[in-house]
Amino acid sequence: MPRFPGVDYLLIDSQFSEQELLVRQTARQFVDERVAPLMKDCYREGRFPKELIPEIGALGFLGANLEGYGCAGMSNVEYGLIMQEIERADSGVRSFVSVQGALVMYPIHTFGSEDQKQKWLPKLQSGEAIGCFGLTEPAFGSNPAGMLTKAHQDGEHWILNGEKTWITNAPVADVAIVWARTSEGIRGFLVEKGTPGFSSSEIHGKLSMRASVTGSLAFSDCRVPASAMLPGAKGLKAPLACLTQARYGIGWGVIGAAMDCYETARQYTIMRKQFDDRPIASHQLVQEKLAWMITEITKAQLLALHAGRLKDQGKLDPAHVSMLKRNNVGMALECARLSRDLLGGNGIIDDYPIMRHMCNLETVKTYEGTEHIHTLVIGERVTGVAAYK
Ligand SMILES: Cc1cc2nc3c(=O)[nH]c(=O)nc-3n(C[C@H](O)[C@H](O)[C@H](O)COP(=O)(O)OP(=O)(O)OC[C@H]3O[C@@H](n4cnc5c(N)ncnc54)[C@H](O)[C@@H]3O)c2cc1C
Repeated sequence: MPRFPGVDYLLIDSQFSEQELLVRQTARQFVDERVAPLMKDCYREGRFPKELIPEIGALGFLGANLEGYGCAGMSNVEYGLIMQEIERADSGVRSFVSVQGALVMYPIHTFGSEDQKQKWLPKLQSGEAIGCFGLTEPAFGSNPAGMLTKAHQDGEHWILNGEKTWITNAPVADVAIVWARTSEGIRGFLVEKGTPGFSSSEIHGKLSMRASVTGSLAFSDCRVPASAMLPGAKGLKAPLACLTQARYGIGWGVIGAAMDCYETARQYTIMRKQFDDRPIASHQLVQEKLAWMITEITKAQLLALHAGRLKDQGKLDPAHVSMLKRNNVGMALECARLSRDLLGGNGIIDDYPIMRHMCNLETVKTYEGTEHIHTLVIGERVTGVAAYK
């Protein structure tokens, strides 16, 4: 596997600290040597490379920006660079790392009891345990406020009934963070694998995110102890806060997918010859596409870096993250489409990573708030009018 040279048109590397560059280099080398070589076969087979989990944990990449309980305590920029490198290999592997860190460890770390933190965070950090985040339901995706899943109190227990779907890691998770309606509003529960009344199933037939496991969760009079409730998570703002963490990581991750598409296309157009033995890179229409891509990747890098610096200063808010996620996912998807075009027929075959990235990015556009919803969040920020309601 050739070493990835990096994509840095505007000398943005000069803005990173030595520590940040070291973290990126560690992630870059791991991805080039261990992750990228597996992805073509994993995608074909519809298989998540679970053999990588212990290594991902040992490198400190799970919950990397959290403090204590075995977590690496990295900055948000360092965390973003890890997401970028991992998604350069595949959005499905980045999804695993995002869900585990931002949607499972973060809520336990932020809203959990001390016992919940002690019990779960070290195991989730090392990858010994896998978690999933159940918010979406069959009838409530963009509008989770309408959720039907309910929990009612029965003495020292809570009883859950309902269904969640499109849940990353659902069939392989040891613990699910489940959001349910209660008499005190929406609350979060830690439901362990094997709890009576709790089952999961896998969604088959995906043509996107094939190297990620996705499934549904079902609760039928599922009884959990009172200690399973996240004590600090009250109302919809708790799961939304988790999504803000995950969307931040996506804003960086998709730059990796875009870089991989761009670099593959750039090298291909220099090598591929048509018409009088001239490289296709010598044609203006081809250069226009490469120029568009490198410009948009560079703008996305600056947006992510600025968002990361704001987050490290505690100044990044959810509407900022909507701009980051919406812009960078759209940018990456367009880079994948343009790169696919530049490879001609070879663009559709899985010897090259482009079509896989393109299919994955269709999911990334939809999950963690669709492009429409983030557009309307930005619209609300600038007009004061909430158009999605
Ligand atoms: C592979 C994969 C993994 C996922 N992982 C998870 C997970 O781990 N946990 C989890 O909880 N969820 C997960 N999801 C679910 C994901 O977050 C939802 O698919 C997403 O929120 C969209 O919901 P929906 O699919 O029901 O689409 P819908 O909400 O039905 O939207 C369909 C279309 O209608 C548009 N639309 C809806 N409302 C409006 C509006 N008010 N204004 C304008 N347009 C609107 C949308 O933008 C979209 O274009 C995952 C999804 C996928 C595909």
